Amino acid sequence: MLDGKCIFCRIIKGEIPSSKVYEDDKMYVFKDIEPKAKVHLLAVPKTHFKLLEEMGETEADILKYMLLKIPSIAKANGCENGYRLLINQGDDAGQTVYHLHIHILGGEKLSDF
Ligand code: 5GP
Ligand code: ZN
Repeated sequence: MLDGKCIFCRIIKGEIPSSKVYEDDKMYVFKDIEPKAKVHLLAVPKTHFKLLEEMGETEADILKYMLLKIPSIAKANGCENGYRLLINQGDDAGQTVYHLHIHILGGEKLSDF
């Protein structure tokens, strides 16, 4: 289920334009509007949930599906040499959009953290 007020749900529905790099029935992947690396993609499930703690079996299946798909999507979009996945959870992590999403960062040597 999508949430009409959520910015990522609206991107999935095409109500807000985005630079899409991949889409299927379960996930949508697009370029981050404020890239923090040469390649910065956001992978979002096509079902709205805010946080990992809200995840049930259905959401867990989608997340597993996404993790299986991400390597080929990352490689096809400039991350041949590796990439970093990041999932911000909550305010202290700096989460700004409360629709679960996986950052895919790469295309260059990333700094340590
Ligand atoms: P968070 O901080 O919640 O983990 O990540 C949210 C990300 O979404 C940020 O990196 C931000 O740049 C990106 N973002 C926010 N609004 C938009 C938008 O309208 N379009 C795109 N492409 N990215 C967005
Ligand atoms: Zn949403």
